[in-house]
Amino acid sequence: MPEGDTIHYAANRIRPILEGRVPDAVRTPHPRHRLDRWSQRLAGRAVRSVDAHGKHLFLRFEGDLTLHSHLRMSGSWGTYLKPQRWRRGRHRAWLVLEAGRHEVVQFDGPVLELMTESRTRLDSRLTALGPDILAEDFDRERFLRRLRQDDPTRPIGDAVLDQRIVAGIGNMWKVESCFLAEVDPWRRTGTVSDGEALAIVNAARPRMQRSARDGNQTRFKSIYGRAGRPCPRCSTLIRQRGQWDDNRPTYWCPGCQH
Ligand SMILES: [Zn+2]
Repeated sequence: MPEGDTIHYAANRIRPILEGRVPDAVRTPHPRHRLDRWSQRLAGRAVRSVDAHGKHLFLRFEGDLTLHSHLRMSGSWGTYLKPQRWRRGRHRAWLVLEAGRHEVVQFDGPVLELMTESRTRLDSRLTALGPDILAEDFDRERFLRRLRQDDPTRPIGDAVLDQRIVAGIGNMWKVESCFLAEVDPWRRTGTVSDGEALAIVNAARPRMQRSARDGNQTRFKSIYGRAGRPCPRCSTLIRQRGQWDDNRPTYWCPGCQH
């Protein structure tokens, strides 16, 4: 599922294809963008950089224009060497960038917009983002500050999913990092110490960094999706319950997560 590591992995694959070059073609097959004329607006402009912050991906072009994408639950990025077959149907492509023999494709993208670079610095959805868990210099102080400004009665598992507190953790990493840190995801944030909160992000970070390099997120699933099975640490049965507004499945071990 698209969490921060998935998006950084996509950026890492797209970067060598597009960075520093003018795409041969920019196509927006989806009807929503039919009238946007992105191919004209981006014609002749090189991609200055490809970067990610949390679950957001940015293709920054020369001349103050940036393509911003967020995949939510459904989207994905693909990179292909022609005539390699796309992983999803052509009708699901929202954006296609061609460069030499390569194609970069965004599928089913619910958020895809071309904005000025200055707007990316003012857009409230983007400026509100917390520190990126995958950033080289992850800002732990800022993470703790944002956590403490938040509702102390909110469960910690829910707080670390909040992209304004820390950007990049999704439901799977929430589950696995609380498990690794031995913290019960249902505990109220106000009762979780700074050390425990940091243990959660410190567990997630190096694993997410590895997955951002090689795209293999699955190997880090130890309790996610395993309700009713014995905990790999203490053999208590793993439990599952929906958490917070959107009721996303939370797995935890009542035996060794406190
Ligand atoms: Zn356990």
